[in-house]
Amino acid sequence: MLKAAFNAVGCKLNQYEVQAITESLEPYGFQPVPFTEKADLYVINTCTVTGKADYTSRQMVRRALRKNPSARVIITGCYAELEPAKNEALSERVAVIGNSRKADIPRIVLNLFGIDNDGNLIGKPITRMNGHSRAFIKIQEGCREKCTYCIIWKARGRPISREPEEIVDEINALYENGYHEVVLTGVHIGRYKKGVDFTGLLKTVLQDTDMPRLRLSSLKPNEFKDKLIELIASESRICPHVHLPVQSGDDTILKSMGRKYKADSVGILADRLIEARLGITIGADIIVGFPGESDTNFENTVSLIKDNPIHHLHVFSYSDRPGTPASSFENKVSPEDKAKRSGRLRRIGNRKKKAHAQSFIGKHLDIIVEDRQRSGMLAGISGNYHKVEFAGDESLRKQHIHIDIDSYEKEALRGNPESIKQIKKG
Ligand code: SF4
Repeated sequence: MLKAAFNAVGCKLNQYEVQAITESLEPYGFQPVPFTEKADLYVINTCTVTGKADYTSRQMVRRALRKNPSARVIITGCYAELEPAKNEALSERVAVIGNSRKADIPRIVLNLFGIDNDGNLIGKPITRMNGHSRAFIKIQEGCREKCTYCIIWKARGRPISREPEEIVDEINALYENGYHEVVLTGVHIGRYKKGVDFTGLLKTVLQDTDMPRLRLSSLKPNEFKDKLIELIASESRICPHVHLPVQSGDDTILKSMGRKYKADSVGILADRLIEARLGITIGADIIVGFPGESDTNFENTVSLIKDNPIHHLHVFSYSDRPGTPASSFENKVSPEDKAKRSGRLRRIGNRKKKAHAQSFIGKHLDIIVEDRQRSGMLAGISGNYHKVEFAGDESLRKQHIHIDIDSYEKEALRGNPESIKQIKKG
């Protein structure tokens, strides 16, 4: 038995792909072990969305080489795709395999270890999500939008969507294995197209699977067509939670970013979603300090967040990505101003998140139980993406339950253990 350790830096798509590689290699004697353990093989799925992601990716490679200097180390993912030489330079023991050849990794590994390849390797569906109570499902990858700050379209290539049947089969396999939620993910899921579009795929999954919760990963504000909003409104199995990569609340900056929507359309969309679905949570990504962002531009972003029903924020400080148009834009914002602006937005975001969470005290939520906290409490995630902690025993792990909400403490809702009702399958 060979030991194999896997690590996904960055997005849910990277985590899905690592799971697929893990499950493809298991039948050939590769036993998955935690990344902190000594292994014969290490596979690192890298990320390059920010300079920090590059750094973390390199750190993972160095950690693997330190753990077992004679191990085989496979570096793949977006950083490997765009900076193969920098990765190869990390050690002669690494093999750098870009995104375009990622599906080939299991075959390459068998070759490296001199193991016969019976040809049953490619395109295996995942059946579980190691270390997770909710599973991520890749529905597409790639993008052709070319936003001026982004390098992912270059790392991931043109959009490719998976067959709906493949996705349905995978979701049914996960349901059989006790999963109650899947997160539909990709690079640009709003551009899903394979006979049907994204809304069509959702309808197919709702019809052909019994998965209780379908969560949508990021969707651009201009990709919420009426039929999608109607489906979110009418289908309780679609989680009442959306995440919008808004990026800025100022039209001049949005134009300079190459984003194809206006700031006021975000507020209009948020109001429509609130009206359409009771208890929905709306999250947003914001990039602060984009080149040319003045105090006035930034204040427009602050107003957009303050004046609209946006309930939590992911705030990113702009960082140059080599090879992007924005990296050569003038009027770069100082690190001090970036720090000040992101600090202020995070405080606003935290206040809004707390207020939205507290609005569920006295109500009940459905949650999927995930893990035990240091406090000894169990914790789970609600359909509308709030963390709920409660006293409970191990048998509740991974279970889908209803629970009454008593209070809000230490950035989490508190559930009443007496009120727990398990949500039965089917
Ligand atoms: S939509 Fe824009 S930000 Fe998103 S992956 Fe495509 S190019 Fe990058």
